[in-house]
Amino acid sequence: MNKLTIVALLCCLACNRHIQHSAMANFTIPFEHDNNRTLTYDETIECYEKLAAAYPRQFRLSTVGSTDSGRPLHVAVISGDGEFDPEAIRRSGRRIMMINNGIHPGEPEGIDATVMLFRDYLAKPELFKPVLDKIVIVAIPVYNVDGCLNRGSFSRANQDGPEAYGFRGNARNYDLNRDFVKCDSRNARTFNQIFSTWNPDIFVDNHTSNGADYQYVMTLIATQHNKLEAPLGDFLQETMLPELYGNMAKKGWDMIPYVDTPGETPDSGIVGFCDHGRYSTGYAAMWNTIGFMPETHMLKPFKDRLWSTYAFMEVVMQFTANHADEIGRARAAAFARTREKQTFALDYAMDQKRFDMIEFKGYAAKYKPSEVSGLPRLWYDRSEPFVKQIPYYNHFEPSVTVEKPVAYIIPQAWEHVIERLKINSVAMEVLDKPLEIETETYYIGDFKTRNGWEGHYYQISGRKPGSQGRTQRQKKGRSRVRRERVEAARLGISPVTVV
Ligand SMILES: [Zn+2]
Repeated sequence: MNKLTIVALLCCLACNRHIQHSAMANFTIPFEHDNNRTLTYDETIECYEKLAAAYPRQFRLSTVGSTDSGRPLHVAVISGDGEFDPEAIRRSGRRIMMINNGIHPGEPEGIDATVMLFRDYLAKPELFKPVLDKIVIVAIPVYNVDGCLNRGSFSRANQDGPEAYGFRGNARNYDLNRDFVKCDSRNARTFNQIFSTWNPDIFVDNHTSNGADYQYVMTLIATQHNKLEAPLGDFLQETMLPELYGNMAKKGWDMIPYVDTPGETPDSGIVGFCDHGRYSTGYAAMWNTIGFMPETHMLKPFKDRLWSTYAFMEVVMQFTANHADEIGRARAAAFARTREKQTFALDYAMDQKRFDMIEFKGYAAKYKPSEVSGLPRLWYDRSEPFVKQIPYYNHFEPSVTVEKPVAYIIPQAWEHVIERLKINSVAMEVLDKPLEIETETYYIGDFKTRNGWEGHYYQISGRKPGSQGRTQRQKKGRSRVRRERVEAARLGISPVTVV
């Protein structure tokens, strides 16, 4: 063979490999041919399987645990250097960003957007490298597998596409975005396990919202900043959020805080969302993780909702990469604060006197007779857009607090509590001999409930926990959790010796 033939042959081989590689990685999804289509569950997993085949070094797809449908949860990870061990990634100084999709499968933008984002980043090294030198991205392709399989076209009235989508509830009709702490669903217990394994620095849970109409496609619930330890909450409020809002506007997606109003219409202002632990970002906050719940607006076309979701994840990825060290320092300071403080808040109340004025781009609110009842009906006139300053109430104070105990003692009968602590990597020890010790017990002196919901009764008064001390003989076999051990487990360091 002469030199020219060899060169030609090598070119041909390279070309073939390139074609084969591209054919595997450069798939399109139905949305790219029909803007009113979202992926089914099986199509979604097939896309990730194609990525796993095309990029075996930087991408990994695995399954964890189970869901109420009986199927496992999938976890898709992009790691630039091929390291997939969370501890090794943390040691390398990279930040971990986790994305959750399809918790409400009728709000499916994140399912499609994450497939495209992963495909695009893996296919374009020039985009891929600067970000993935600094962060590892972990995605749950579809969290509510059960609801995603229950596909239809009529469970979200007035939503502007897609033509078919999954159902909000899971296989037990539970709302998974109320289940992160009580963990009644297998989905939530598996999620807790995944979250505690990866312990992400940043978390994004993609949603779609309804309610008042306004000019924005994208609204945002960020972790309520007063709920995070100060170094991290301040970083979120003062550095991260302004940059995310600015970068979304530069991409053509003006964003506004999630529109929850004190009065009937947004003219009255916006109140911050106090994301308790039952919600995904509230659960994340308990791990000193900054969480985001982007909520696109259901009255905007699916195409715009999907692309704004894609843009939001991209700006968060880029911010996290650009500020990787700062985020690491702020989070380490937050964990140090958690270890040192003696009082922990269980609930918060909004400071109704404290607000910031923000610009709001709305539509005029009007009333007209309802075609159904004939009674006046509120509607928003898109032919009358306006821009005005409105108050934004987003400062919260602890309203219920507890003192940090030396340890918790859990009777063995409370196995559901012990199970939930275990899946959150909380270290426990079992008493090997009876222990005579003064203990304090929380009690609820008064309770009033409203209707039962998902197997529980929500307590609407008497929530302030009291306590009483008495000397008790703790039986052999009870689990003991030392607060320091909880923190130690979260930080991945050796737990302190229990005396
Ligand atoms: Zn939702």
